Amino acid sequence: MVMPKIAVLPGDGIGPEVMREALKVLEVVEKKTGVMFEKVFGHIGGEAIDLFGDPLPEETKKICLESDAILLGSVGGPKWDDLPPQKRPEIGGLLALRKMLNLYANIRPIKVYKSLVKISPLKDRIVEKGIDLVTVRELSGDAYYGQPRGLDEEKGFDTMVYDRKTVERIAKVAFELARNRRRRVTSVDKANVLYSSMLWRNVVKEVAKGYPDVELEHMYVDNAAMQLILRPYHFDVILTTNIFGDILSDETAALPGSLGLLPSASLGDKNLYEPAGGSAPDIAGKNIANPVAQILSLAMMLEISFNMVEVARKIEKAVELAIEEGYRTRDIAESEEKAISTSKMGDAICKKLEEIW
Ligand code: NAD
Repeated sequence: MVMPKIAVLPGDGIGPEVMREALKVLEVVEKKTGVMFEKVFGHIGGEAIDLFGDPLPEETKKICLESDAILLGSVGGPKWDDLPPQKRPEIGGLLALRKMLNLYANIRPIKVYKSLVKISPLKDRIVEKGIDLVTVRELSGDAYYGQPRGLDEEKGFDTMVYDRKTVERIAKVAFELARNRRRRVTSVDKANVLYSSMLWRNVVKEVAKGYPDVELEHMYVDNAAMQLILRPYHFDVILTTNIFGDILSDETAALPGSLGLLPSASLGDKNLYEPAGGSAPDIAGKNIANPVAQILSLAMMLEISFNMVEVARKIEKAVELAIEEGYRTRDIAESEEKAISTSKMGDAICKKLEEIW
């Protein structure tokens, strides 16, 4: 069997610290399944600037293009904030990488663990009903890329546009995902006002015919923003446009109470897996960051890129059990005294994973 190959890009800030823990988890997976992964490490972001003067060196591009999937930590930090925009870790590194990969779908799962109800900003009575949803955001179209667009002293304008093929492609991602979940897709648009949303809704309805086992509902974005706070437990898969997804996925990210818990996947020519949060320079280098987002990003990679669905479920379970048993980094701990380090959190999750295998 050909050894699956992954590009590992730890990046800046807490990136290397949390990546280390994700790789420990991968080691357990390798031991238990016998599937070995070839890991090729690459440089990206500020640390790549320091080493090579380039936030996305040619070597890193090559490593990514030659791999089956890319596992990224995070990039950026105050040290590089004064560089010209195209040379900065975020624009010249991460955005350039995303562009190179032609990413078209961003998948952001959100789960509020029962044992962490207290750190969610929502009321207990809402959270206790269970929040477990995923946002599927279209990444390649909409007002961010539509032409014409422009700006002068008197006028600024963008073009909000979608074509059939782009909507079909993202809708299929959402329906396929729903099949492995609770089989409900909520398509979020503004079809009462916007033509691009009218097309969106028509095409989503057509795609839904190929998935009779999945329930489809439509919701206007203004209502969706409200329902996410009032009845977040209602949602399973939220399918939405680039601009609405940009906003709603950050709204959902607030629900669990810490960015350190949230993974993401982006699909394209190669799939990219990374925590939803950034490089957290305020806590970097202290071994206190939460490695869960990185570990769950690894689980998403195993599920989506390598079809190791059961393994992904096991990792998610191990994370949940570790948190339930009280293993918590500072961002989710009841008090600072009870918080454990990044590496201890990683160890606890590995131990749980071994136990439940
Ligand atoms: P951030 O997500 O890095 O941090 C926001 C807050 O969340 C901070 O208080 C941080 O300590 C906390 N946090 C984030 N991840 C955590 C974790 N795993 N465990 C515990 N706490 C965690 O956002 P920011 O402060 O706005 O940005 C910092 C840097 O990261 C900037 O340079 C920014 O450009 C960059 N950034 C990178 C990415 C990326 O690489 N994908 C995304 C967002 C921001």
